[in-house]
Amino acid sequence: DTVIDAHDVSKIYNRETIPVYAVNNVHLHIEKGEFTALVGPSGSGKTTLLNLIGGLDKPDNGNVFINDLDITKLSANELIDFRLKNIGFVFQSFNLIPVLTAKENVEFIMLLQGVKKSIRDARVKQLFRQIEMDDKVDIRPAQLSGGQQQRVAVARALASKPKFVLADEPTANLDSKSASNLLDIMAKLNKEEHITFLFSTHDQRVIERARRVITLVDGRIVSDTAAVSTKHEK
Ligand code: ADP
Ligand code: ADP
Repeated sequence: DTVIDAHDVSKIYNRETIPVYAVNNVHLHIEKGEFTALVGPSGSGKTTLLNLIGGLDKPDNGNVFINDLDITKLSANELIDFRLKNIGFVFQSFNLIPVLTAKENVEFIMLLQGVKKSIRDARVKQLFRQIEMDDKVDIRPAQLSGGQQQRVAVARALASKPKFVLADEPTANLDSKSASNLLDIMAKLNKEEHITFLFSTHDQRVIERARRVITLVDGRIVSDTAAVSTKHEK
């Protein structure tokens, strides 16, 4: 099952002055159940590529297929709806809503989607068990550690049962113990629930945990650890 198929995608900034090829003719194919790290130096295009795949930004060239739907053809409103239903996002700076409790942050998207209370409650309970924070549901983000906030952000990303989760430098603001703990949770969700993760990172310890590593330099994919093995499998 292919979940992400970026086809010949480019994003060019400053077209009128000195063009920057932030993403340059990228082809990327991600199957359901992958646990893939996107790596590369600062400015190599990781955030731009994740934004294109997540429909937060549109490419100047190419197409992005999510489950066979070309999201570059969607209107702004259709994209908002598509993202809510299909893609989970985790950000470097957690981005939880400070006035809401951990539970309310996770529940929010389900409220927007009109999911009824009994189902919301069951889903929230399951998610807090999965992030190992059953005892923190009623606590606000400021009272949680960074690692705990990011685990809540992962639960929030999963609340609407997305097709995959995009995480842009999810461990960048965490100490190494919390980063390792977050990776444990993500890896467990990948293994046991078959959640597909695509995450960018600089952190060597995080890279080591990935099953596939794609390296970007100057907006181009320069290496992909899956390239060799998939050829052999076919
Ligand atoms: P990374 O996430 O790997 O650090 P980015 O995707 O943030 O890389 O950036 C890729 C390139 O695109 C960089 O040269 C960056 O300066 C440029 N860039 C990113 N966003 C913008 C923007 N909004 N306007 C102009 N240039 C940008
Ligand atoms: P984690 O490994 O999940 O990041 P920590 O070991 O950092 O958790 O935190 C342990 C406890 O300390 C947590 O229960 C949390 O409530 C509390 N704590 C940590 N950092 C903060 C903080 N910045 N503000 C409030 N409480 C914090």
